[in-house]
Amino acid sequence: MTQLTSERDTTTDGAVEFRLTAADRCDSCGAQAYISAQVNGSELLFCAHHGRKYEEKLRSIATEWHDESSRLLEATN
Ligand SMILES: [Zn+2]
Repeated sequence: MTQLTSERDTTTDGAVEFRLTAADRCDSCGAQAYISAQVNGSELLFCAHHGRKYEEKLRSIATEWHDESSRLLEATN
């Protein structure tokens, strides 16, 4: 039903490196983290919900923004 591209059939050579696991939890609510941000040398983890919520604020100060929330789209259904 979704229109996701099928280019990423091989998970090992994808453009996005998925490195967050079920052990990584959102700093705000404790849900599984799908977004990480590097701020002042430390890594902040957020679920998709809080990642979106804080993205605007954090983008300006984060030196790195890592978003794996696309995994949620694939995992659903
Ligand atoms: Zn959260």
